[in-house]
Amino acid sequence: MNDAPDQVEARMRFIYTLRSRGVTDARVLTAMEKIDRSAFLTGIFSDRAYEDTPLPIACGQTISQPSVVALMTEALEVGPRDKVLEVGTGSGYQAAILSQLARRVYTVERHRALARQAQTVFDTLGLVNITAIVGDGSYGLPDQAPFDRIIVTAAAEDPPGPLLAQLKIGGIMVVPVGQSDTVQNLIRVRRMETGFEYEELRAVRFVPLVEGLG
Ligand code: SAM
Repeated sequence: MNDAPDQVEARMRFIYTLRSRGVTDARVLTAMEKIDRSAFLTGIFSDRAYEDTPLPIACGQTISQPSVVALMTEALEVGPRDKVLEVGTGSGYQAAILSQLARRVYTVERHRALARQAQTVFDTLGLVNITAIVGDGSYGLPDQAPFDRIIVTAAAEDPPGPLLAQLKIGGIMVVPVGQSDTVQNLIRVRRMETGFEYEELRAVRFVPLVEGLG
């Protein structure tokens, strides 16, 4: 990582901003400090990596706002033995943060170019516990199911049934729910022995979960 003084200061301000937005989990903050967001951006946007804002990536998609990445990761309550599924790889940044907290991360993306690029960055950074897969993530990954944790980083109209079915008992899923082009609700779903418990966490704005491959 580049340790030029202005970069060091930018990263300190970045962590300060995350704290001021309500991120308190030390493991999440350490992961956000360690993973260089600029590695997941290209061109002029790399210089803006430490701004708390979503930024454009290829295929007309976005890398999420860092404080939203942190708060969603915190809400997922990831443990070191967990197998995690992410739907919506995008740049790969969220998966990289999860890789610091979990045993194994599978991330599914409908755009082949994004999945390939993300896998290249994972390989470059030596993040060997992440696998990027091309597919329609709304159907999950039946071959690797069940999962301890599932995170969806695109907005669904309802929590997708196949993802609920692939969550372990005791497992947690975090998913933005609502109509696209409006503000959505971030929902935390816990799978209990007897069914599912739903909790509304906060308002978020995500691109929609889209059917099929890109
Ligand atoms: N997590 C990403 C990151 O860290 O950069 C940001 C995700 S971006 C807001 C949403 C992503 O979800 C886009 O890359 C989009 O192509 C992807 N997506 C949308 N619908 C999908 C689907 N059904 N299956 C897999 N990926 C999907």
